[in-house]
Amino acid sequence: MILLLKNLVELDQKHFIHPTSSIQQQQQEGPAFIFEKGDGIYLTDTKGDTYIDAMSALWNVNIGHGRTELAEVAKDQMENLAFSSAFSTFSHEPAILLAEKIASIAPDSLNAVFFTSGGSESNDTSFKLARHYWKVKGEPKRRKIISRKKAYHGVAAASTSATGIPQFWDMAGTFTPDFVHAETPYEKSTAEAIDSMRQVIEQEGPETIAAFIAEPVQGAGGVIIPPNDYFQEIRKLCDEYDILFIADEIITGFGRTGEMFGVENWEVEPDLMTFAKGVTSGYLPFGGVIVSDEIHETLKEKSTGTLFHGFTYSGHPTASAVALKNIEIIENEKLRENARHMGERLLKGFQRIKADANIVGEVRTLGLLGAIELVKDPATNERFPADWKVAANAIQALYDQGVICRPVTFDSTDIICFAPPLIINEAQVDTLVARVHDAVLAVE
Ligand code: PLP
Repeated sequence: MILLLKNLVELDQKHFIHPTSSIQQQQQEGPAFIFEKGDGIYLTDTKGDTYIDAMSALWNVNIGHGRTELAEVAKDQMENLAFSSAFSTFSHEPAILLAEKIASIAPDSLNAVFFTSGGSESNDTSFKLARHYWKVKGEPKRRKIISRKKAYHGVAAASTSATGIPQFWDMAGTFTPDFVHAETPYEKSTAEAIDSMRQVIEQEGPETIAAFIAEPVQGAGGVIIPPNDYFQEIRKLCDEYDILFIADEIITGFGRTGEMFGVENWEVEPDLMTFAKGVTSGYLPFGGVIVSDEIHETLKEKSTGTLFHGFTYSGHPTASAVALKNIEIIENEKLRENARHMGERLLKGFQRIKADANIVGEVRTLGLLGAIELVKDPATNERFPADWKVAANAIQALYDQGVICRPVTFDSTDIICFAPPLIINEAQVDTLVARVHDAVLAVE
């Protein structure tokens, strides 16, 4: 077993370039975990150690690990029709039924779906659809996309440009012009964030702007939950300037925030909604864009000729069948409601940790998205110097406690993010909180 593990580490270092990783660190240290089993909220590695997966892997394993129902559906679909094309006039039942299902659970005016293989492809697709919509409506100058600072929209060409975390531009620069960033309501009021967006619109020229994209809760930016009035003001501003509003629901979709989609927390309807991750709970790669009736009707009327945009795996039959089953589980097991209740319990736990610790600033949750900010002085919110690596130390202390979470350290923040599977129960939330409590007190 030990020899086998050593072999795996060596093979990993020799052949496997990890996504979003330090290649040098990988060469020096090898992988910290090699997981081989997932069950519910737990992951077990090759050393036999079991961890609470408090991130649902990459914010995506909404129904938890090891669900055999999904494996059975995938097996049946693969035996029947593993794959066939959805290009042009080809179609198949699983994608048709899934499109209908997604239309039925999306906000009222969003009823047509374009499928992709993941989140980045979904966002790139939404930008192309937005530009195409304006082009066929006779406003081809509307090409610019506004996004926000601290946004994460993925790593394809256009979604890298829309991402508002500059570290993601360092590797190879950005590929697409016409992307601009406005302020986000983090340590800023709704009025300040809206003012910044208005300034960007006026400066760029409203007649050049195709769309505005925002995550209902910014995930990778540090689980930033907007003030309650923010998205209604955003909707008004977009309407005022005729700008399409794209909600990036890639993390927040499928029950994560206590509503089926994140924007529903503020009763706002976007013009386009992108999704991925939770649609299959990560059991197969999948994603898509839902468009409003207005956009769909306009395209039906005015988009003549072929829409030259499609991925081989758009509407993949096996992934579609798995997504249908996954959504059925979310609905039948009331995981959206559970996310809301468990999120409230998690927040109470975070508040107890804050009361006991000397280094906890703001704590927050919306459904099962949560964050604990670590600060040098909670009274003034003074941050730790970056070289103290407080969040990294906290994450290590959490690993020692058997909890996997994720740090956010850019812009001199030390934020620990949480997004446990939506099936988590009260006892498991309490265990998670107790372990986080001990880890935080161990680093202060
Ligand atoms: N948008 C958001 C909000 C995300 O969190 C992510 C991934 O974490 C993406 C887009 C990109 O999705 P993918 O990694 O599936 O391309």
